[in-house]
Amino acid sequence: MSALISVSKLPVDPGPAAWDCLLSDREPAIALNEKITADWLVIGAGFAGLAAARRLTQLCPTDRIVLLEARRVAEGPAGRNSGFMIDLPHDLSSSDYGGALDKDIALTSDNRHAIDFAADMARDFEMSDEAFVRSGKINGAATEKGHMHNQDYAAHLANMGEPCELFDAARMRELTGTGYYRSGLFTGGTAVIQPAMFVRNAAKGLASNHLQIFENSPVSALKRDRDWIATTPKGQVCAPKVIMAVNGHLNSFGFARGRLMHVFTYASMTRALTADEVARLGGASIWGLTPADPMGTTVRRINGTGGDRIVVRNRFTFDPEMTVDARRISQVARDHDRSFAARFPMLGGVEMDYRWGGQLCLSRNNVSVISEVETNLFSACCQNGLGTTRGTLSGMLAVELATGTTSDRLNRALAAEPPAKLPPRPLAELGAKALLKWQEMKAGAEL
Ligand SMILES: Cc1cc2nc3c(=O)[nH]c(=O)nc-3n(C[C@H](O)[C@H](O)[C@H](O)COP(=O)(O)OP(=O)(O)OC[C@H]3O[C@@H](n4cnc5c(N)ncnc54)[C@H](O)[C@@H]3O)c2cc1C
Repeated sequence: MSALISVSKLPVDPGPAAWDCLLSDREPAIALNEKITADWLVIGAGFAGLAAARRLTQLCPTDRIVLLEARRVAEGPAGRNSGFMIDLPHDLSSSDYGGALDKDIALTSDNRHAIDFAADMARDFEMSDEAFVRSGKINGAATEKGHMHNQDYAAHLANMGEPCELFDAARMRELTGTGYYRSGLFTGGTAVIQPAMFVRNAAKGLASNHLQIFENSPVSALKRDRDWIATTPKGQVCAPKVIMAVNGHLNSFGFARGRLMHVFTYASMTRALTADEVARLGGASIWGLTPADPMGTTVRRINGTGGDRIVVRNRFTFDPEMTVDARRISQVARDHDRSFAARFPMLGGVEMDYRWGGQLCLSRNNVSVISEVETNLFSACCQNGLGTTRGTLSGMLAVELATGTTSDRLNRALAAEPPAKLPPRPLAELGAKALLKWQEMKAGAEL
């Protein structure tokens, strides 16, 4: 039976990919401009696509693999995030990130498996600590309520048998330079990445005679006769098996319609701080902090390529059309500036160099889509906001499924329920927008 899929939407990422802008120029992109054949086609070069490509090189070392990316590697969400590869439960829809105990223990084991896989890539491709380091992270609490969230989360971690350390206000000030935080909960298993540096290096390290990467090569159609044929603006790839690693754009390929929530989140990065500003700020030169309330503000203090800077991320918006206009970035900028000024009054006058947004894909029941959606067409999508880790895992597991490689981890993923159906539009839209607004209001000074 033949199948024809017209891709309904291509990715549009608002604002610059700041982490990528900090890096030096690279070789010009190579776009696909001919008809080629391969044993495998991977679509999307984010965490899922790169992990899928790497797993294929391990399991099928002599096979020819083609990876197609709509934009340049690191320009999409994979190069736009805050760079926390989190090992522990991180359910954005809960009040304190925690979920059911047995599920959270299994999830943590899966997350660590994915972080180990990323660590191996970092080692094999000789990445620096700036690109990937297991430094742990802190859940920062600015309010009494946030402090309670941290305590609830610490109790949940204790039940899971996971160690953590509670920092008091003085320790938080010593680390971050700001007196904004009432407490912090440190956990050691998170890896912190410079996302653009990590994915650029991963792509460079993976490319070989067996694995070709084409950028600026969006897939506009997929057709199956005997093999799958993917069409790009100037070329075609014919391959018997395809891994779709396009996160929320799974919907654009016609799958999981009415089941995926498209959400944008936003970040701003300061200009490089002067030596005087660094001294005024104080604290350590590198740290990363997620908010005690999932709706709050994530902060990173970075020191490396591009100098000493601060990156803040907050706000979630529900955008089922998968695009946001430029006005959104300037609206959200006000929230970023407010959050930055509240935390860093000693840095008055420090402007933002970059402001941007990027897409997340969530399901109501916090599951990914790792499955064979059509004959020999596999999905590694829907990372529920933790795509650095869960994207990596999805890519690995989709390849294991496609190659008949069995494991408990894969069985667990295959046994998961499909993403729950969303209420019909516009109900889903109104409900999600109201819920987000209410949750952000509740976050108070954690925002
Ligand atoms: C501001 C911000 C902060 C974030 N912070 C974190 C964080 O700290 N930790 C974390 O884990 N996650 C974070 N995220 C989320 C994370 O970036 C995503 O979950 C992750 O990138 C998803 O990985 P992925 O590989 O599944 O998808 P993506 O990274 O979105 O990769 C999919 C790729 O597919 C390509 N594509 C789509 N359609 C086509 C097509 N038709 N043809 C070819 N290519 C196509 C896209 O261009 C894209 O590059 C954050 C996101 C943002 C925006």
